[in-house]
Amino acid sequence: MNSNVTSVKLVLLGEAAVGKSSIVLRFVSNDFSENKEPTIGAAFLTQRVNIDDHTVKFEIWDTAGQERFASLAPMYYRNAQAALVVYDVSKPQSFIKARHWVKELQERASSDIIIALAGNKVDIVEDGGERKVATEEGQKLADEEGLLFFETSAKTGQNVNEVFLAIGEKIPIKK
Ligand code: GDP
Repeated sequence: MNSNVTSVKLVLLGEAAVGKSSIVLRFVSNDFSENKEPTIGAAFLTQRVNIDDHTVKFEIWDTAGQERFASLAPMYYRNAQAALVVYDVSKPQSFIKARHWVKELQERASSDIIIALAGNKVDIVEDGGERKVATEEGQKLADEEGLLFFETSAKTGQNVNEVFLAIGEKIPIKK
């Protein structure tokens, strides 16, 4: 058993339907659903991961992507130590929105917040669907703004644990 547990408040941000709730469901329950109901307001879930000899407990706030809930977002990111900003690689508009979220976090969230960017639904591309946001575009934004970057699929699970592990590795350990 690990006795060292570090809690991390993490907020998910991104346009509606990019797959935020699905990423959380994959991470927390290793599950996926094609017909997920949209999140209203925000949902709270926790999940623990072991990193070396300690445990990181993620306290995840999954915010609703709809514009009408946008004014609530500051309440969730204000005291977050980490943020996961999600876009859909088949929806350019969602990448523009992700860029806005990153900017807003840099201007208004804690100055040491860890920000990760996830280009989700890569399985659509691998399935013959059309990619509209190139890997290089996501990587460029991440490099310019100092973000962690992964292309993910909540559907197949690709890189979902990896994003959270990468964030967890950057969290200062409580001794
Ligand atoms: P949210 O509004 O950002 O939380 O998005 P949801 O998690 O509700 O997902 C919106 C829709 O996209 C749902 O129908 C999901 O099943 C679907 N979806 C989410 N992630 C993926 C993914 O990685 N691949 C595919 N193909 N569909 C996904």
